[in-house]
Amino acid sequence: MIAVTTFAGRKVALFGLGGSGLATAQALIAGGADVIAWDDNPDSVAKAQQAGVNTGDLREIDWAAQAAFVLSPGVPLTHPKPHWSVDLARSAGVEIIGDVELFVRERRAHAPDCPFIAITGTNGKSTTTALIAHILKSSGRDTQLGGNIGTAVLTLDPPKAGRFYVVECSSYQIDLAPTINPSAGILLNLTPDHLDRHGTMQHYADVKERLVAGSQMAIVGVDDSYCTLIADRIERAGVRVNRISRRTVLADGFYFADGGIVHAQAGKSEPIADLQGIDTLKGSHNAQNAAAAIGACLAVGVSIEEIQAGLRSFPGLKHRMQPVGRKGSVTFVNDSKATNADAAAPALSSYDRIFWIAGGLPKSGGIASLAPLFPRIVKAYLIGEAAPEFASTLGEAVPYEISGTLERAVEHAAKDAQADGGTSVVMLSPACASFDQFRNFEVRGDRFVSLVAALDGVTMLIEPEKGQ
Ligand code: ADP
Repeated sequence: MIAVTTFAGRKVALFGLGGSGLATAQALIAGGADVIAWDDNPDSVAKAQQAGVNTGDLREIDWAAQAAFVLSPGVPLTHPKPHWSVDLARSAGVEIIGDVELFVRERRAHAPDCPFIAITGTNGKSTTTALIAHILKSSGRDTQLGGNIGTAVLTLDPPKAGRFYVVECSSYQIDLAPTINPSAGILLNLTPDHLDRHGTMQHYADVKERLVAGSQMAIVGVDDSYCTLIADRIERAGVRVNRISRRTVLADGFYFADGGIVHAQAGKSEPIADLQGIDTLKGSHNAQNAAAAIGACLAVGVSIEEIQAGLRSFPGLKHRMQPVGRKGSVTFVNDSKATNADAAAPALSSYDRIFWIAGGLPKSGGIASLAPLFPRIVKAYLIGEAAPEFASTLGEAVPYEISGTLERAVEHAAKDAQADGGTSVVMLSPACASFDQFRNFEVRGDRFVSLVAALDGVTMLIEPEKGQ
């Protein structure tokens, strides 16, 4: 745990006692702050009390005495409207910050030179974060991985010289981190998402911009207009910028060409990493993630040889286009995280002959937007509530069966792919939420993996989860 010493002996109010909120309260207490914490959910309050956190309704405290108000990133700061606790803090003039800001201040106070890589963007954050941490770890560096990817940042080991931090940041976390100053900050891409929580696309982009604007070295994807403008603007303001592209040849920066990443610098271009044959980095979206990882790792002193070795051994991230098993020329791919059509598109674009398992709880819009990718699908195996709707969208364009359950879909798809004889994938990329048949997308993906493991003659590429 990182004991937050920057508020030692001072009063701090905290709202939001879910996983990261409770960890933040404990980190503040460990560092000597006088914390009063609250949540709208009485169960979370009770749990915090059991964990030794002082709780109290923040409507009844002396706000003028608080040195800061620490908010959980899940609680609305601005949209659709500020939470009541935010209104109280604002009217008392108390600064509002989150756990990433506490980490940033702790690093600044105790180990300002320890490398800190922060990653944001609309898509690809977790993959890029995991890839960077993998490259650092496999080159023998002391590496801490956390943030939005799942491990609350203040539960990591404390900053010290030579320790590397790789932190995924959601826009909510950046919004609560006014002085974020990574050694290398990555902004991968920006497309409309979570606008319910950010109001407008412009506000969403402005928040994301803060992460790279505060970076010693900014790495910005320039395949969309918002990020292109951001790269230009922060560069004019004096930030060192490395641009990356999955689509365009750049005069300066890192771009994807001929199956690898090319580094253009000072009028020279040279290929620096071959991505061909790396199953876990298939597709041009992953080239964007890899280019960003390369840029960030170079910025913090990793050698190109170490980076190349890390790229080659990257095991991929669970449930995201993850190759899990192989039988002859058939690869089984778990893309359970694809909970809508947009998220399924990169996976479908990455393979040519797909036995596609799709369905679950349908989202509005269905799979009509995937029609240009239908020629890649040899046959679809439809499960869950969405099956009839997806069947009618596929119509005459793609052969399909209504398998109903994941069990039947895996069995039939595996049999058909085997009989087909060609190089192909059996892929779960559902384009749907999971809640009609599974607790969440992780459970759905784990179930897929265990069904694949149970097939005759399959060589597993990963260990199935226990108990699934
Ligand atoms: P995030 O953490 O931003 O949600 P992930 O790395 O978990 O992103 O990837 C989620 C899904 O988004 C992947 O399964 C893939 O379909 C898609 N994806 C990954 N990287 C990118 C990218 N750079 N651009 C667009 N889509 C991507």
